[in-house]
Amino acid sequence: MNMIIMGPPGCGKGTQANGIVQNLGVVHISTGDMLRAAVKSGSELGQRVEAVMAAGELVSDDLMMDIIKERLRQRDANDGWLLDGFPRTVEQAEGLMALLDEIDQSVGAVVSLEVPNEEIVQRLSGRLTCRECGFVTSRQSVGADDPNRCPQCGAEALYQRDDDREETVRNRLEVYQTKTYPAAATLGDRYRLERIDGVGEPAEIAQRIRGVLE
Ligand code: AMP
Repeated sequence: MNMIIMGPPGCGKGTQANGIVQNLGVVHISTGDMLRAAVKSGSELGQRVEAVMAAGELVSDDLMMDIIKERLRQRDANDGWLLDGFPRTVEQAEGLMALLDEIDQSVGAVVSLEVPNEEIVQRLSGRLTCRECGFVTSRQSVGADDPNRCPQCGAEALYQRDDDREETVRNRLEVYQTKTYPAAATLGDRYRLERIDGVGEPAEIAQRIRGVLE
């Protein structure tokens, strides 16, 4: 089963994606994670995308298509995948559909998580990410005693992503609405699109997703 999960920044996409890949046993392909890894390694790709990401802008469609083409051609992508963070524009959606036709694959479901803007700004400005293991938590959950310690791996490595600052969050939302939201409709013309209310506890939302996938 191949799937796509979409939604505005901070809608809980990453958390839900982790649950889905565990349940379905498919590979998790997160373009945001791939790009952050490139930035961290200081590779040529990382250097090219660092400033664009920090400003909450989108990396170019051509570059993203090259990255996804290479990733979907890897052997582990033959047995099902979940795309998280791709496509983000109508051009990427069209490019993906053409690529999938070429490699004789399809998409079983596109899940779009919907969360109102005010809630997103509130959620993201408190979000913390672990530099070591990628775990995502919030200022409220880690408390004041040891605010940098990751509850998952124990490293003193929690930080606020540059793109989680309030002005950048507002820019990312604008980019989402003008560029990514229309891409969901493009995918919906061809594949099964399920719009799901992303407000609530993560377990509740996971249940909603399972409900529509069954
Ligand atoms: P994410 O972790 O999915 O929120 O992605 C973080 C950042 O990586 C985004 O704000 C973009 O700058 C960049 N990015 C990730 N995926 C894409 C994509 N499909 N197209 C363009 N830029 C992307």
